[in-house]
Amino acid sequence: MGRFVCGVDLGGTKISTGIVDESGKVIQSLKIPTNVEEGSDAVISRINMSIDKVLEMSNLKLHNLSGIGIGAPGPLDIEKGIVVYSANLPGWRDVPIANKIKEKYELPIRLNNDGNAAVLGEYLFGTGRGSKNFIYITISTGIGAGAVIDGKLFNGANSNALEVGHMTINTSGPKCGCGNHGCFEALASGTSIARRAQKMIDEGRETIILVQEKNAPVKAEYVFDAARNGDKVALEIIDTEAFYLGVGISNIINLFNPDKIALGGGVSTQMDMFYSKMMQTVTERTLRPNAAICEVVRAKLGNEIGIIGAASLILCDD
Ligand SMILES: [Zn+2]
Repeated sequence: MGRFVCGVDLGGTKISTGIVDESGKVIQSLKIPTNVEEGSDAVISRINMSIDKVLEMSNLKLHNLSGIGIGAPGPLDIEKGIVVYSANLPGWRDVPIANKIKEKYELPIRLNNDGNAAVLGEYLFGTGRGSKNFIYITISTGIGAGAVIDGKLFNGANSNALEVGHMTINTSGPKCGCGNHGCFEALASGTSIARRAQKMIDEGRETIILVQEKNAPVKAEYVFDAARNGDKVALEIIDTEAFYLGVGISNIINLFNPDKIALGGGVSTQMDMFYSKMMQTVTERTLRPNAAICEVVRAKLGNEIGIIGAASLILCDD
């Protein structure tokens, strides 16, 4: 029997747990609500329960596992396996999640932030294969990222590297969840697409964005649907999105000089709608030799990246 690893993707609303083989294939997986309001002990019990369940679903025993990897929102202390605090896990303060899980499972446990786990997963098993300096950026409700530099995961001094969602793009831009103004994620996340659409609707602009879902809050996907139907307001919003993504990516290329960047997350599934405009901005704003060597592509792992990334924290030892 080959080697198996358990990957746990801990998020603010859901916990995804899966068994992954050494080729990066998810054998079985399970998604449960986090119920973060129940407190960290209850959440950790639910994680343990989900590990037991996926083992059972996979017809495996604990001794078949070579470790458990956990991807979590930060800031973290990865050496000590602690969630220091997290905007997505309200009430969590210095939670020693790795040790608590180790109490039940006598296995190597690795904790890292979800962006770092994801880049490792995409590097080992996705479109990052063969790349040496590789960046993964997730664009969904927020924007996160991770980097592999010279073939190694780049954690930064205390494992919080590549918080690119909070690099300032426009000093007088909209307020971000972090308290600052004009952060990359306040301008280019899926949330900001929805916010921009809502503003245009409130201003009385003529658009079909909300035709299907009257009175429901605008979602980024409605904007893309409307843009695909030629809606002018929606196309304008997508163009703005493409521009800010291009600015952010250009900064990242100038900083890290990667040979490949992969985009994941919900917004990336619509990449055909903004790719050329985004790349036009990248080309205009990036130092030419840096732009010339860097390929920008869509990530390959899709929805499973959280689990595969977490499992990669153990699998990367090979
Ligand atoms: Zn911010």
